[in-house]
Parts: sequence; structure tokens; C-alpha cells
Amino acid sequence: MNLNENQLQAVKCPLGPTIVIAGPGSGKTQVIIQRLYHMITHLHCSPQSILVVTFSKLAALEMRERYIKSYGASSITFGTLHSVFYRLLRQYDPLRYDLSNLLSEDEKKKVIQKLYIGLEAEEYEDFVEEFLRHLTLMKNQLIEAKHYYPDGLSRELFLKLYQQYEQYKERHQKFDFDDMLVHCYFLLKQEPSLLQRIHQRYHYLLIDEFQDINVVQFEIIKQLTGDQAQLFVVGDDDQSIYKFRGSKPEFLLDFKKHFQKAHEIYLSANYRCSGHIVHYSSALISANKTRYPKELTTPNPLGPLPQMIDCKTGEEQAQKILEQLIHYKEQGQAWKEMAVIYRTNLGARPIVQALLQANIPFCLRDGMMTLYHQWVTQDILAYLKLAQNPQALEQALRIINKPKRYISKSILARTTTLPGSLLFNLLKEEELSEWQRNYIDKLIYDLQLLREKKLKEGITYIRHTIGYDNYITDYASYRKIPVMPLFEVLDEIEESAQNFSEVISWEAFLKEMAEQIQQSTTKQKAMSDVLTLTTMHGSKGLEFQSVFILDVIDGVIPHQKSSHDIEEERRLLYVAMTRARENLLLYIPSEKHGKPVTPSPFIAELRQPFLANYFKVGHFIYHRALGRGKIIEVQDNYLLLVRFKGEKIRKIDGNYCLNNGIIRWEEE
Ligand code: ATP
Ligand code: MG
Repeated sequence: MNLNENQLQAVKCPLGPTIVIAGPGSGKTQVIIQRLYHMITHLHCSPQSILVVTFSKLAALEMRERYIKSYGASSITFGTLHSVFYRLLRQYDPLRYDLSNLLSEDEKKKVIQKLYIGLEAEEYEDFVEEFLRHLTLMKNQLIEAKHYYPDGLSRELFLKLYQQYEQYKERHQKFDFDDMLVHCYFLLKQEPSLLQRIHQRYHYLLIDEFQDINVVQFEIIKQLTGDQAQLFVVGDDDQSIYKFRGSKPEFLLDFKKHFQKAHEIYLSANYRCSGHIVHYSSALISANKTRYPKELTTPNPLGPLPQMIDCKTGEEQAQKILEQLIHYKEQGQAWKEMAVIYRTNLGARPIVQALLQANIPFCLRDGMMTLYHQWVTQDILAYLKLAQNPQALEQALRIINKPKRYISKSILARTTTLPGSLLFNLLKEEELSEWQRNYIDKLIYDLQLLREKKLKEGITYIRHTIGYDNYITDYASYRKIPVMPLFEVLDEIEESAQNFSEVISWEAFLKEMAEQIQQSTTKQKAMSDVLTLTTMHGSKGLEFQSVFILDVIDGVIPHQKSSHDIEEERRLLYVAMTRARENLLLYIPSEKHGKPVTPSPFIAELRQPFLANYFKVGHFIYHRALGRGKIIEVQDNYLLLVRFKGEKIRKIDGNYCLNNGIIRWEEE
């Protein structure tokens, strides 16, 4: 590969702090690879003393592969910051930091859940989720608990649970992922000998995706590189997408403040994407106000226009994608050259379902939240199972007060020890007042009706007639959390039940989907020929021949949860779009879960400047039915006045032209 002048400058620059800021596809990762080789062959750096860091395990593996492919095996270390920090801790105290003492994210959650129940605070289903989020945010920013204000949570409860969790870990000699960074930071501060050892081992540090570094990581990096600051970082502030977890693109933009003598290098050519994709995505990102302005050009041909595909429902969207995937495959594209990208893991449900049914091999890159593991899903399942089996105790306990039927814990504790159905036993309970009894009667009646219903109808019945949706609304308003995400889960599960008749087979399907999601993140599938499914977050750094973006609609992108940070949402879509080399397809359903939705406001942003630039008075266009015509006026709302053969003047919608590819334009 012949690098351009700026890329070569970056590859060959002298040792010392260096920063490369550049847009997607400009060869930042490529520059790191070639820089490594240059360091070894020309700057005489020993490969053992080089440490290359990137943001995920998979990304580190892929980078290593990329290096080996070009230059052969090497003893350079490729890893994530976590893996590097973990190794440091291990060196310092192998017993304390034995891998068996590491709490996985799942174990951590379980411990916290248990401690939370022990606090006997009023029960919130999602307190633990929110607590975990804040815990990470706090630790990533090196903020002490006493100075931390977890918005949306009781501070008192947060502190109490935090202290208990810390004590638990202390007592059991455990640590978790966030601790690795924080422990490492303090350890390096306290133990000059350890720092010295590291300086002896690693002399050079190179970091990809530097825009997503957080405070604790940055502080450790400063400690690691020391005065010498043999630090080479690349990044793009427009692709900063982890602010919600405490990452700070400021470290990229203010690099020179921290390392005064740093070389700064800018790259401006996008080698990945075809021309149209570069234009569209640049138009989108230029709407952000807080950014380092960059102009991206590309030597690549214009290529096919990005397509914006209208469809009705989520299911229809999945079907259309499936057809297109198969079409590309038949044209000779490998599965691994295609990716389906969505905003949230939940959004993947219809496509996962369609792919499983069509037997198309796929891997999920970063599936974490699965439908099956959501608490509202478990509530609905509990209702359905209880309808089938009135003796099911666990299920009865789960839903007895959802919606509130005001059955106290003490009554429940007493009744659960009796044999038989909890509900019938409750009816015999003397302490129950008349109105409580009525609630239970009604529940028993509802469960009987539920048993007769088709699965999907049953779920609708639970939500609307039994009153589960109202319960969720009250719950969310009481907890001061947005209710929409919970409804989103409910809508998804209701829709997913459509083609199932039995609870068991539906549950098995949800489980299988969850397993697929979990397995494909752990299995190293990236090398075999499978289709990639990923969230926008997980798509960072990757590239594909064809990219399908799901649900480009308002409320999904920007996501309803993140209305406060519209610019980060815009960056997310930008990251997703710029993964495509050739074919970019954005899907815009007109309804979601039976309700009408509007296209993402970003659609207009990425279209309009493009239209303004590309349809100019005097251009010729080609229309299938009317033939060749000349644009004689471009109106504000992107209506084109076009004169066709025989002096016929027609109004044509520029947006429609682009979407349907019915028009070609050419210079006069
Ligand atoms: P991102 O910000 O999305 O991570 P990036 O800046 O890291 O993008 P790379 O992944 O390094 O970009 O490069 C994008 C693509 O362009 C790769 O396929 C790479 O091989 C190719 N490429 C980079 N530089 C050149 C060049 N000078 N000539 C031809 N192809 C190039
Ligand atoms: Mg990259």
C-alpha cells in the first residue's frame, strides 16, 4: 500500500509524543501498523518493548492479525488497557490479583443484587442496573464516592450499597474490572519500584481510538509513559461515543497541553468509503457544533448512492434486509463483508429472528443486553407460566404485586409455606380484607382467561387488561426514570411472540436468542465467514463492503433515552455510516410496534446539504419515464423544476430521486 504524504509523515516521525487526528477511514489504524514496523526496522526499537493498546479484546486481536499478515510474527504486545493493567497488578501481587479473584460482570451484579436485598430498601427492579452504571462512571473519573452525585438515585442508598460492596470485596479478596484501573492508578503512585519495572519493560506506547480514553486511563497512561512520553496516539473526536461512560475526547484535542512537544499530524483522505458515502456522512457530522473541524476528501470513485429504504414494520424491514443480504451473497460477496448495525441490542431482535429462521450464519459483536434477561420479560413469562400452572410458586410471587394488589410481605411469607396454589391459599387467609380478596379473585379469573388465549393476545391482555403497562408507568414515574425503554422491551417481546403458539417454544426461542448473543461474543468468530451484527458502538474501527443500518427513525437514533446528548447520537450514526466501503443502506420503517414513527431527524441533515450541492441548475437528469431533462430551478424544499423533452416542465422531489436512484445528473 502506498501511503500518502501525511500518513508517511506519521509513520516516520521521530520518537516522542505524537498525535494523529483524522476522520474515519483515513488510515489511522493502518498508520499504527506501519509505524510499528518502522520503529523496529528504522528506529531500532525492540519489539518486546512496544505496547499497542486498543479499546476491545477483539480489536486488539484483529490489529495483531493485521500486523502479522503484513510483517510476520512479532513479540510486540497488543492488548486492551484492562489487560495491560491487569498484568501490572498481577506482577505486583500475584495472590491478591489471581484471576480467580476477579468478579466477572455477571458475578459483580449478583453480589450487588444480594447486598441490595440485604439493605431491605424499597425494591426497585432497575436500581442495581443504575447503580452499576454510576459505579463505573464514578470510578472511571476517579471521583471519590463522597463527592459523587448519582442523578436519579438516592445518594444515601448509593453510598450505603457502595460501602457494602467495597467491604465485600475487601473481605473476600475480590476485585472487578473497574477496580483494575483504579487499583492500578494508586499502586503506580505508591510504588515507584513497580513503575520502574514497567518502564524497563515497555518503552513505547501506541494507542488507537484515543478519543474514548477516560480520566483514570489517561492518568495511568501518563504514569506509564513518564517524562519520556514515548506515546503515539491516534483518534477522531467525531467518533467519540463513550462520553456516557466517562470518556473524554478532550484528552485527544488537548493533547498538546499535556505533552507540549507533541508532533501533531492530520490526515484528510478517506480511503475506505466511496465518494457518496463520504459526502453524506460529512454532511451529517458537520451539523455538530462541538468538534474539531475537518474536511475529508476521498480518492475513491463516487460509487453507488447510499440508499434510504422505506418499509412499514420492523418485520418487513428484517425481510427486506434478508433479501438484500442474500442478493449480495449471490453476487459473490462473502458474509463477512456485510454488517447489520443497530442502535441498541434490543433493536436487533427482528433481524436475529429472521436470520435464525433463514439459517444464515452470523456473529454478534457486542451483545450484552438480551431480551430474555430483562426483568419485564421475566414478569410477562411469569404471568404466562402461572396461567398454565396455578401451582407455580416462584411465578406467583413474582407477579402478585405487579400491578399492586397490596399483599404484604408478612402474609406472603406465611402463605408460601403452605402446599398448593399460592393464590388459592391467599383466599383462605383470614387477615386478607375484602378488597384484597377481590384483587386475588380477579387475578385468578384473568389467569383462566389467559390460558385460553393465543400467545401474542395473551401478552396484550397482561399489558392492557390485567394492567401491567399501568404498573410500569407508575413504577417509572415513582422511580423518576424514563418509561419508554421499558415499553420498548414490552413491545419487542410482544412482537417476537407473533409466530409462536406455545409459551414453552417461545421461551425456548428467547433463550436461544440470548445464548446466540452470549456465545458469539465469546467465540472468536471474526475469522470465519459469518455476517456481523453489531451495535453502533461495537462497529467502531471496522469496515465492510456493505452496511445495513436498522431503524433510522426518531426515538431510536437519536435514542429517546439520550435526548440530552444529541451530538453524541449524531456521532454514533456517523460511525455506523462510515463503516461502509461501497454499499450503505439505511432502513426507515414507518411504524414500530404498531405505532407510527417518523424518520430520524438526521436523515434530513445528511440529505439536504448533499442535495443542495449536487442538483444544480443546468444539470441534466435522467428519469425513467420522462427521459432526459434539464434542471431549471432548485427550490428551497429540494423540489427540482425540470424541463423534459417537448418543453414539458415537471416538479421532481430531489429526495425521492436520491432514494430511488431514478436520476442521474451530469454537467452540461
Ligand atoms: P476508523 O476511524 O474508522 O478506525 P482508520 O482511520 O483507522 O478508520 P483504517 O482502518 O486504518 O482507517 O483504514 C481504512 C481503510 O483504508 C483500510 O482498508 C486501509 O487498508 C485503507 N488505506 C489506508 N491508507 C491507505 C492508502 N494510503 N492507500 C490505500 N488504502 C489505504
Ligand atoms: Mg481505526
